[in-house]
Amino acid sequence: MFVKLIILGPPGVGKGTYSTRLSKLLGIVKISTGDILREEVRKGSKLGRLVEKHLKEGTLVPDDIMVRIVEKRIRKAGSKGFILDGFPRTLEQAQALDKIVKIDAIIYLSMDEEILIERLLRRRVRKRCGAVYNVTDIRKVVNGVEYIFPPLLSQRRRICDLCGGPLVRREDDEPEVIRRRLKIYKRLSKPIINYYKTRGVPFIEICVNREPSIIVDRIVYRLKELNLI
Ligand SMILES: [Zn+2]
Repeated sequence: MFVKLIILGPPGVGKGTYSTRLSKLLGIVKISTGDILREEVRKGSKLGRLVEKHLKEGTLVPDDIMVRIVEKRIRKAGSKGFILDGFPRTLEQAQALDKIVKIDAIIYLSMDEEILIERLLRRRVRKRCGAVYNVTDIRKVVNGVEYIFPPLLSQRRRICDLCGGPLVRREDDEPEVIRRRLKIYKRLSKPIINYYKTRGVPFIEICVNREPSIIVDRIVYRLKELNLI
């Protein structure tokens, strides 16, 4: 039986990157609710239209719908194991998930908020091919933690290496929008984190202060320590 994981952490910390890397490395299924919803919108399905309506109104897709989507994917993953990214987003979702499956561990990615914002502001993306670059060069000690992030530049300025298209800032990567997103995240995630802690689910907190390859090694080390892989 393979491992069943949840990845948590503030927006912009890199949950998508880490869940993708871990799913490949451990041979488990990545279940990203963001990816699923985007795909449904793209297909124009009934669910996709509902998601669009909520996006327009700035409201969250109702818990019961999210739970049903995730439950279906978990059943499909079967004995392969999985890593959940973007779910549970509310305490109600966490409680519903408990009735579906037993989670082996929570991976909680943390990062100093100012560093997080700095990195998001200097991120350059190419939507069409999904490439992400970063022009920031961080080497800073915050609260006793040393953060080192060398820049991730394209070979030609503002041009994507993969497809040759222009690199842009994501429209929601604005200081105010980011701060608001972080605030909402904190409010919603606190009860979820407390919930898993009080239920004794192994809680792996990892400070993301280096590039992904180093952080992935740390996560794998902790999972081995817990005899989960
Ligand atoms: Zn590209």
